Amino acid sequence: MTVLDLPDGYLIRFHTGEEVVSGLTAFARSAGITAAWVNALGAVSEAELGYFDGEERQYVRQPFHGEMEVLALVGNISRVEGEPFAHLHATLGRRDFTTLGGHLFRGVAGATIEMFVRNYAGTTLVRARDEAVGLNLWALPGSYRPEG
Ligand code: ZN
Repeated sequence: MTVLDLPDGYLIRFHTGEEVVSGLTAFARSAGITAAWVNALGAVSEAELGYFDGEERQYVRQPFHGEMEVLALVGNISRVEGEPFAHLHATLGRRDFTTLGGHLFRGVAGATIEMFVRNYAGTTLVRARDEAVGLNLWALPGSYRPEG
């Protein structure tokens, strides 16, 4: 990975063969990121995607191999029990222009991944177990209910 510091975050280039989810998590730990929004594009040579089955309360996971365009990668970085957690989703494009998409468990950079991390310095986004859903979800301190 190579990094350019910005006033409000980072631009990150993942090089060929580097894994995005573990790489971003390690970077978040090293940079002390506790809340951030992530956008990226590029290409992967392999990926593992997930679909959360709400009834089974678990992910269906599937690996995919071969060069795919990362058409859109979006997500955020929060903390779970103090540890950085990167929640990422990706839409991937294949040579025949069909697309795949899902929760990104693993993505190995192809030619490149170009990523923008918008860091919310001084803020900690906490993720905690939501037993009703069966996932670690945002635990936000404020509440809002629309009137009427
Ligand atoms: Zn997800």
